[in-house]
Amino acid sequence: MTTQRIPLTGVIGSPVSHSKSPQLHAHWLRTYGLSGYYIPMDVAGDDLETVLETLPKMGFVGVNVTIPHKQRVMEMADLVSDRATLIGAANTLIFRKDGKIHADNTDGYGFVENLRQGAPDWDPKAGPAVVLGAGGAARAVVASLIDVGVPEILVTNRTKVRAEKLVEDFGKRLKVVDWVKAGNILEEGNTVVNTTSLGMLGKPEIRVPLDGLRKQAVVTDLVYNPIETRLLRTAREMGCTTVDGLGMLLHQAVPAFERWFGQRPEVDNAARAAVLR
Ligand code: NAP
Repeated sequence: MTTQRIPLTGVIGSPVSHSKSPQLHAHWLRTYGLSGYYIPMDVAGDDLETVLETLPKMGFVGVNVTIPHKQRVMEMADLVSDRATLIGAANTLIFRKDGKIHADNTDGYGFVENLRQGAPDWDPKAGPAVVLGAGGAARAVVASLIDVGVPEILVTNRTKVRAEKLVEDFGKRLKVVDWVKAGNILEEGNTVVNTTSLGMLGKPEIRVPLDGLRKQAVVTDLVYNPIETRLLRTAREMGCTTVDGLGMLLHQAVPAFERWFGQRPEVDNAARAAVLR
């Protein structure tokens, strides 16, 4: 007699206590009546290799990966998706039945799906994108904007060399603009994205002058705490279409949940409520 193993999944990082993913996956498991578990696991760097060897043997079908392991897990994976390679980080590991570990990055996918859901009329090809920030999340955003055909991406970052590195890695469709001139380029943005941590609870506000925003622009913020940042509030008051960052967090989890549990989950108000609880 063969017994079906209950799929185990989770998130590895350090710290992981802040992660909203356990609430989200538990909500979807409950909603679809599926057997399975999603467990937050605080894993120290020295233990990462042993943990990745051990988890599949314990019945884990995969894990999400958060700071500080997003780069190192790529060296330990047997296969790395093109998008994870391009972004330079992985947020999802799939433990395959043949014993191989597949590393992927779904942040860019989550970013675009969130815009498609939150701004159904968004046409990425209609004009340039303005990207504030050039950290890890910006790499996923830029990769996905290129993928959906944005004609030009104006990147501005406090530390200019980081923005220049993006041009080096992603090519000539990107143009670097000095951080002090960030306000001047907003009027060019058909899509405007904040990928900095500015505006997050406990961090300074964005001080970039926002009066140049065009009301035809779709404006989004990766920061989701608070849900409506100053950027989003100002943009909304100016008549722009705004999309908050919580949806990106939810959408990036969809491909992994589907792969692990065999059910494509819905990103809806109930899922949003589950992570806000
Ligand atoms: P990161 O790699 O540490 O990058 C941080 C970015 O913020 C850099 O561009 C940095 O500029 C900029 N920054 C920080 N403090 C600043 C300041 N005082 N003035 C100007 N710029 C400042 O972090 P990350 O992983 O890219 O994450 C960035 C934000 O996105 C975080 O708030 C994170 O929670 C959020 N995020 C959300 C999602 C989602 O699903 N919604 C997904 C990923 C990330 P420098 O290069 O000059 O330091």
